[in-house]
Amino acid sequence: MIRVLVNGANGRMGRTVCEAVKNDPDLEFVGGVDVFGDGVERDLKTAIEKFQPQVMIDFTRPDVVLENVLTALNLKVAVVVGTTGLNDESKEKIRLAAESNQTPAFIAPNFAIGAVLMMLFARQAAKYLPDVEIIELHHDKKLDAPSGTAIQTAAMISEVREKHTQGHPDEVEKIPCARGAQIDGIRIHSVRLPGYVAHQEVIFGGLGQTLSIRHDSMDRNSFMPGVVLAAKKVLDLKGLTVGLEKILD
Ligand code: NAP
Repeated sequence: MIRVLVNGANGRMGRTVCEAVKNDPDLEFVGGVDVFGDGVERDLKTAIEKFQPQVMIDFTRPDVVLENVLTALNLKVAVVVGTTGLNDESKEKIRLAAESNQTPAFIAPNFAIGAVLMMLFARQAAKYLPDVEIIELHHDKKLDAPSGTAIQTAAMISEVREKHTQGHPDEVEKIPCARGAQIDGIRIHSVRLPGYVAHQEVIFGGLGQTLSIRHDSMDRNSFMPGVVLAAKKVLDLKGLTVGLEKILD
């Protein structure tokens, strides 16, 4: 049994994660942490000292996740991070903390297997269809934009795509940001509306054809098999690992 602490335990994802951990025979739910502390601990360091977890799962907020992760790693607790919004500089700090504490860290911008497959298929398609735009759609309580999944998808496409300029060179945005955000020339459009959970469409355009690769998380349970798998595998990893695809068989 691996002893697991859930940080952000009273949040939308956190509540589902607590149930998933409790229902898994190989994981032991030792406690939860949340700022308002309704039925759980309020302070991460106190909770770690009290519950002595081997793994901390974090689904909190983009503005506090780095501090949470460094606190856990410095106390030699392995981390599984679902919270999005970590930039490259923060990931580098996490990598250094994981290495210096000899305690593994795992981050996945998306724990849904379907979303991971969408990213892998998009990387494959981009070799042949380099003109691509991403539309990501999420619930209106999401704090960060674009989504971590969209950023990761663009990064994976960039790995295989030759330097490429797309769209009309004389294109004019009559209203700023009309064409969305940009990563390595790949446009990303973020939709925030009630009703959505987490969705993404990667659209490729070619001569006389388009290809759409779409993934929809209809329910937060879609992320749970990935979170549970990461909690079981993280102790066998070293340093920082990013992406669910790295731990799938
Ligand atoms: P949420 O409902 O706002 O949950 C976050 C919880 O963390 C809230 O209860 C929040 O309390 C609490 N919190 C804030 N600061 C904290 C701190 N310092 N210590 C402990 N708890 C703290 O958000 P959510 O929808 O569950 O999403 C959480 C994160 O997961 C987001 O970054 C989201 O993008 C990400 N996410 C990732 C995946 C994935 O597969 N990787 C999937 C879905 C969501 P307050 O409400 O009082 O601030």
